[in-house]
Amino acid sequence: MTDPRDAGEERELAYRELLELHASIDAACEGLVGRHRARLVCERGCSACCCDELTVFEIEAERIRRQYPAVLGEEPAPAGGCAFLDPSGSCRVYGARPYVCRTQGLPLAWFEQRGDSVVQLRTICELNAAGPPVEELEDDALWLLGPCEERLAALQARFGIPDKRSALRDLFRPWEAEGGRQGPCMGTRRPPEEGGA
Ligand code: SF4
Ligand code: SF4
Repeated sequence: MTDPRDAGEERELAYRELLELHASIDAACEGLVGRHRARLVCERGCSACCCDELTVFEIEAERIRRQYPAVLGEEPAPAGGCAFLDPSGSCRVYGARPYVCRTQGLPLAWFEQRGDSVVQLRTICELNAAGPPVEELEDDALWLLGPCEERLAALQARFGIPDKRSALRDLFRPWEAEGGRQGPCMGTRRPPEEGGA
């Protein structure tokens, strides 16, 4: 059966659902932030987790393009940290930041295959490590990686470009030719093997 919606309409629907997904992520994070308030030292200007070379789903890059076109005409931050940092260490596209940036700082959990077993692994930014060890936290006190990534991939497919990810630095097209990306990731943003967003 032919879908009556054209591709452009489907893209816009997917984009609107992205906004809703980000809002629902924020709401869920708010609950976890309240629960872990005593240990979380995240604050404006703390940017050690804002790594250079982060890549995001193209549909999330599109949100930044649509909401912050003027920022994309500014100069990117120097290599070594996220290109969207301003000189004070704050995010210039905070309202449109991608999923990975919305959950950073919380205790994180994910599942991995190890031999014949699937094991749950956990981490937290080292600056937020003081307090009960993450291994001792209840499952519902952790942000589980995986489900939101799957929802984003599904939205991305409906957006019409299923495999594309964009480097945040590459959104600053005018400066692309003037400097390469380099420098280590400075924070514990995600399981190391994922390499970022
Ligand atoms: S986009 Fe994400 S990584 Fe980049 S400055 Fe904003 S919060 Fe940090
Ligand atoms: S996650 Fe860590 S580096 Fe990032 S804002 Fe929070 S305390 Fe700072």
